[in-house]
Amino acid sequence: MASEQFVVLAGAEAGPLTKLADYRAAGGFEALAKARTMEPAQVVQEILDSGLRGRGGAFFPTGRKASFLAQGTGKPTYLVVNADESEPGTFKDREIMFTVPHRLIEGCLITAHGIGCDRVFIYIRGEYLHEFEVIKAALEEVHGADLLGGVTIVLHRGAGAYICGEETALLESLEGKRGQPRTKPPFPAVAGLYASPSLINNVETIATVPKIVELGAKEYAKIGVPPDSSGTRVFSLSGNVAKAGNYELPMGVTLRELIYDVGGGIPNGRELKAVIPGGSSVPVLTADQIDVPLDATSMAEAGSMLGSGAIIVIDDRCCMVQLGLRVAQFYMHESCGKCTPCREGTRWMVQILESIEAGTAAQGDLDLLLDVCDRILGKCLCPLGDAAAMPVASYIDKFRAEFREHLESGCPMHGESSLENVLAPVDQHTHDPVAQVPA
Ligand code: SF4
Repeated sequence: MASEQFVVLAGAEAGPLTKLADYRAAGGFEALAKARTMEPAQVVQEILDSGLRGRGGAFFPTGRKASFLAQGTGKPTYLVVNADESEPGTFKDREIMFTVPHRLIEGCLITAHGIGCDRVFIYIRGEYLHEFEVIKAALEEVHGADLLGGVTIVLHRGAGAYICGEETALLESLEGKRGQPRTKPPFPAVAGLYASPSLINNVETIATVPKIVELGAKEYAKIGVPPDSSGTRVFSLSGNVAKAGNYELPMGVTLRELIYDVGGGIPNGRELKAVIPGGSSVPVLTADQIDVPLDATSMAEAGSMLGSGAIIVIDDRCCMVQLGLRVAQFYMHESCGKCTPCREGTRWMVQILESIEAGTAAQGDLDLLLDVCDRILGKCLCPLGDAAAMPVASYIDKFRAEFREHLESGCPMHGESSLENVLAPVDQHTHDPVAQVPA
């Protein structure tokens, strides 16, 4: 039976650990003290040896990313923490920020020491007002305790745009410009924030660093499924599942264990229909694929991705056309408009899906929709276009009969679809969907 393993959320098992004294009593900031006795290059080598990969979605090796930073440019090096968590179904960075805020700060300070930077920016999603205030209070405590060691940490609230979670759009926004992705190269490691070498990592990634230093890279690397998927992940479990919430488990746990052992299974006597294993932008898996382990290699072999670690459970009342429409509408709304396949294609996807859902589509519209997806995939400036096209194409691929049924006679669910809980953030304690605070 799968059970939780606390690494990033260690110490917060019984509730938020928001006071510095409590965090220190739980061993907090000992890793920072240890890291400061090490040479900076040693710290980066530890991160490299740990096998840690980015937890934002791209899963790129964190140590390797740090090793790409341009040296000897005469410009400052910056660390930028991406706290602009916006992928539908994903709500784990907010959990980390409001339960272990000092661990994120400690991770920033260790990483800053490793890459030789004295200015860190944390870019927080605008809707995360509570998390912003918790981090701000924690930062004031750390400053008061003289732990910053000459590093300045700047908190910056975003204005609520999904695209600012894309690293170069985030940098544009941080510089005070419109949040639109940059063309690459140059990559941020060479010319990032203010055209200076910049390392950008998400909250969960940076909050893992203290444990790597504490345990040592070799011990950390044994957790999960080494060498490609070492460590734990904070999985956001949501949708049609009894106990939705954030759960930290070693990578390699199966979807079945997560949904049934940890999440309590499907409520109201319903059947499992499908699972989205990594946030709204990844291809869907069917109910017969839930024995796939949650590691990068297994997920790729199953035709999907770990993405942001958001596991969205879909029961047999959920209409896949409505789900596809909701996903397409989201990405259409969030498209920054800079490149044509995404700007025009997402709109076209929505129009076709609306007509399929209404039962007014022509027989050829399903193939037309797949053709539109194909003309978006791999042809956009940033991953948002793929994020719209990939899941919708997978819904058609796996549930073609349901789409065809819509073409014949409209939605068979007749407005009774169980979509209301799907792609919504969840309260950790009540397991209910929660409303977002406007920016
Ligand atoms: Fe903007 Fe979409 Fe192009 Fe990304 S893919 S740059 S969001 S238009």
